[in-house]
Amino acid sequence: TGGQVTAAMIDMLSKKSFPLCMLQLHDGLRRDHHLRHWGRMQYGLFLKAIGLSLEEALKFWKDEFTKGPIDPDKFDKQYAYNIRHNYGKEGKRADYTPYSCLKIITSNAPGPGDGHGCPFRHSDSDMLRQKLSNLKIGKENSEAVISKVKEGHYQIACKMVFNFTHGIQEEEASFALQHPNQYFEESQRLIN
Ligand code: SF4
Repeated sequence: TGGQVTAAMIDMLSKKSFPLCMLQLHDGLRRDHHLRHWGRMQYGLFLKAIGLSLEEALKFWKDEFTKGPIDPDKFDKQYAYNIRHNYGKEGKRADYTPYSCLKIITSNAPGPGDGHGCPFRHSDSDMLRQKLSNLKIGKENSEAVISKVKEGHYQIACKMVFNFTHGIQEEEASFALQHPNQYFEESQRLIN
């Protein structure tokens, strides 16, 4: 994908095709009109990789942040730089790549009030149960996912959620989940 996703499409895409880590960032952003630094990094790079252009990214973040306490001027001064930076337009002009599951799971664990991280790894069972109930996959399926998590198989648990939310059997979509953007792409491939 490259550049064809617009800010206006993100709500719709998030509902069906975002893994739980990105869904919780998206919902947190819509709720709070803000995300902390590592949340903006994890989510911003994911959005870039699904095809959101720099122009659309600036629009997306600015529209949401300015619904909260951040005025447009402050947004331009404090936040726009980092977004352009993620697109390689500032600083070292490196093209930053989105985080893999392994990176999200093993580095930079979220603290209280942070939205980033992997909910399978970083949320306790009750919190995870609540997040899964929002996906309407059923109690039995949720508990099966939580058992996987308790065995330490976070990516397998996430892939189970993929199967449940897409109504497919294990054999029909047998990829090993390594990356949030892979989750998105496999989902879009099945839907479209
Ligand atoms: Fe995100 Fe990967 Fe965790 Fe799934 S397993 S929620 S894609 S980090």
